[in-house]
Amino acid sequence: MAKEHKQSSAITPLFSAEAIENRIREIGTEISLDFASATTESPLLLIVVLKGAFIFAADLLRTITIPCIVDFIHASSYGSRKISSGNVTIKHNLAIEGRDILLVEDIVDTGLTIQQVTAELMTMKPASLSICTLLDKPEARKHPVVARYTGFIVPNAFIVGYGIDFNEQYRGLPSLGVLDS
Ligand code: 5GP
Repeated sequence: MAKEHKQSSAITPLFSAEAIENRIREIGTEISLDFASATTESPLLLIVVLKGAFIFAADLLRTITIPCIVDFIHASSYGSRKISSGNVTIKHNLAIEGRDILLVEDIVDTGLTIQQVTAELMTMKPASLSICTLLDKPEARKHPVVARYTGFIVPNAFIVGYGIDFNEQYRGLPSLGVLDS
């Protein structure tokens, strides 16, 4: 039975849990084909950008059929506001030299976060680095970013649910929606 969420009244639905599940299965299949040469000795490394991508990454991981391992990076630019602060704080403890990396992000908005995370990871000499984002807001882009895998293109609105928060709320919603202002 579907969960009832008391906190969902101020949210305009965008993508249902079923639509998200179907799209993620498609992306997982694509990734498995693209990285078919991965082995247990040389697995694909999923680097999940916390916190917003944790549910997406958990579901995506279970659709990928090639050997892969997971690590996490913490990046934040919003603080407790709805507007990007323009300062990205990055925290991690990763060993990525020589590995194929798939960076898993919740939303590419202005592009600043992913651009800075990518720049930092590239200094550590991975074999390759690809970006997988659940949501892309091309209208908001200020820094060029090309995602190899995108779940959905979305309008320039404030989105919550499915791991994505506002002030740490709404992460548990199974669907995605626009938070009414
Ligand atoms: P960017 O650095 O690309 O401007 O912003 C990326 C980060 O800002 C995302 O990873 C996400 O954490 C946050 N963000 C961007 N747009 C939204 C949004 O619509 N809703 C929420 N909750 N966070 C967003």
